Amino acid sequence: PDPMMRPEPIEGETEDRALRPQMLTDFVGQAEARANLRVFIESAKMRGKAMDHTLFHGPPGLGKTTLAQIMARELGVNFKMTSGPVLARAGDLAAILTNLENRDVLFIDEIHRMNPAVEEILYPAMEDFELDLVIGEGPAARTVRIELQPFTLVGATTRLGLLTTPLRDRFGIPTRLQFYTIDELDLIVTRGARLMGIPSEPEGTREIARRARGTPRIAGRLLRRVIDFALVEGDGRLTRAIADSALTRLGVDHIGLDTADRRYLTLMAEHYGGGPVGVETLSAALSESRDAIEEVIEPYLMQQGLVARTPRGRMLARLGWRHLGLDAPRAQES
Ligand code: ADP
Repeated sequence: PDPMMRPEPIEGETEDRALRPQMLTDFVGQAEARANLRVFIESAKMRGKAMDHTLFHGPPGLGKTTLAQIMARELGVNFKMTSGPVLARAGDLAAILTNLENRDVLFIDEIHRMNPAVEEILYPAMEDFELDLVIGEGPAARTVRIELQPFTLVGATTRLGLLTTPLRDRFGIPTRLQFYTIDELDLIVTRGARLMGIPSEPEGTREIARRARGTPRIAGRLLRRVIDFALVEGDGRLTRAIADSALTRLGVDHIGLDTADRRYLTLMAEHYGGGPVGVETLSAALSESRDAIEEVIEPYLMQQGLVARTPRGRMLARLGWRHLGLDAPRAQES
């Protein structure tokens, strides 16, 4: 699969820090989430209290980390960051929690992948800002209670369904992030080009926005690649023609689908008559992990109405057939 169009960060990728929005007003899109967060941030500041624990969920690359950083900046507190898989033992989390200052923001990415032993010490920490640590082993073991500074936990997950109920229930502010519209992505790309000092045509930035899979991380990455082509093969300006030829050469089609997306659709059409097909079958046939299919490939195909999820499995929707230039079988027409 082509990492270029995957919404996860590519290892070693330098996401231009300058492009990351710093404050809530610079953050484009997610209007509803932004409006709510503004109220909760203001209220926490007025009350002089730590903001309520916040959970961001949605596909990768939509701005969960960015929003968490913005929250800390708007609240005027420190930002600490870790991730579920990194916290191997309860002591790892305890060390972070005991170092937090009053009202700090602690961001835990991939919070659904936390070890249960670690998760357990998070409950009293979130609820009462207390830590119960077991010291020693066997009959000599004892529990010590440590008071923590009030803090705000910001969790991020691509899989809300994998969160345990007790953890989910401890977040006062659950927020779902949505795919971005083309207009919103266009604003992000236009701002990015300006910050990188590249003159751009409106049709050029638009072309990137249309093909960015609803995802700011992909928009930023495509912008950097198109700029490479504009500098080396064009006249240094981001035009529609340069964007189109660069993106086509990178295997990104006119609605932003990449090779992996097209393999998925083609497999559904050619081998399974459009479905229904189970996700395990697709995973085996495509040699993609089930997680990658459910977290990365399918959300966008479903949001675009190309694929539908039914109780019996995935179905290729009429738009999916049309995108492949094929007719839907008669039985499906109704
Ligand atoms: P996530 O944590 O959801 O995977 P990130 O917050 O890391 O996503 O964002 C991915 C990239 O997209 C970052 O480089 C970030 O600067 C950019 N980005 C995300 N949301 C926006 C936005 N609303 N406006 C501009 N850039 C954004």
